[in-house]
Amino acid sequence: MISIIVHGGAWDIPDDAVESHYKGVEHALDVGWKILKLGGNAVDAVEQAVQIMENNETFDAGYGSHLNQLGEVELDASIMDGKTIRCGAVAAVHHIKNPITLARKIMDESEHILLVGNGAEQYAKEHGITICESTELVTQRERDRWETLRTKKEFKTKDAFKKLVRPSDTVGVVALDQYGNICTGTSTGGTPNKYPGRVGDSPLIGCGTYADNEVGGVSTTGWGEAMIKVVMAKTVIDLMEMNGSNPQKAAERGIEILHRKADGFGGVIALNKQGGFGIAFNTPRMARAYMNIDMNKPFIAV
Ligand code: ASP
Repeated sequence: MISIIVHGGAWDIPDDAVESHYKGVEHALDVGWKILKLGGNAVDAVEQAVQIMENNETFDAGYGSHLNQLGEVELDASIMDGKTIRCGAVAAVHHIKNPITLARKIMDESEHILLVGNGAEQYAKEHGITICESTELVTQRERDRWETLRTKKEFKTKDAFKKLVRPSDTVGVVALDQYGNICTGTSTGGTPNKYPGRVGDSPLIGCGTYADNEVGGVSTTGWGEAMIKVVMAKTVIDLMEMNGSNPQKAAERGIEILHRKADGFGGVIALNKQGGFGIAFNTPRMARAYMNIDMNKPFIAV
């Protein structure tokens, strides 16, 4: 079996942004799928597919991410290899075009798991990861959004997700390769107008990302503060492990727990070790796509 599942955020994606989300997850899926099809490994498929979405301004990851209260892009990402349960993560970086690649470098070469801010960027420089100007990651769309949000003092992240009017365009990928290895990666610019230094669920292993060859892989998107409270990704993994590995049931149950216990909104993708899929969200829309060797063509929906 080879199998891959991709998400590009769960929120009230406006009608005029549906096509770009559709094409964005389709492209990422295609890149990851080709790597798996050619016998490549799950870690490469995840890194490359996440990179595609980080480079696509549609999504809240890498280029085009939401700005924090100071008007800066501040990025988080994580990756986990289910074969070894090794993982790597970065948070609050400003000069990294592809944070997923830095997270992978930390996973592969560092004794640590999570590096933040200046330390993460120093590690990037020492290990040949491309550094960019922070302004290179900013788009006019996000500048305009920031101008609007900063004047709305009543705006709270929690309410934003509750009212389902604010973007949540984090990206994530889970892949299973022909060697039976599962990898998960997640990358985000976080929530719009976030407090500087705020870190959400995406770079936290167990909250935004988890992978374990014995069970499967999970990536999340949505209101990070709620996701952290219920340790969302690992919760869904545990549900899969306990419930005979049914990824759809585990994803649905995870979203139910998120909503009931933490009043949270968002979405989750899950893949089990047999290559089966689970997707659940309690937002109006979620950009998602998947493909496995048993399918003639990919499933893609927004
Ligand atoms: N979960 C991300 C965060 O809270 C946001 C998102 O999924 O769009 O940082």
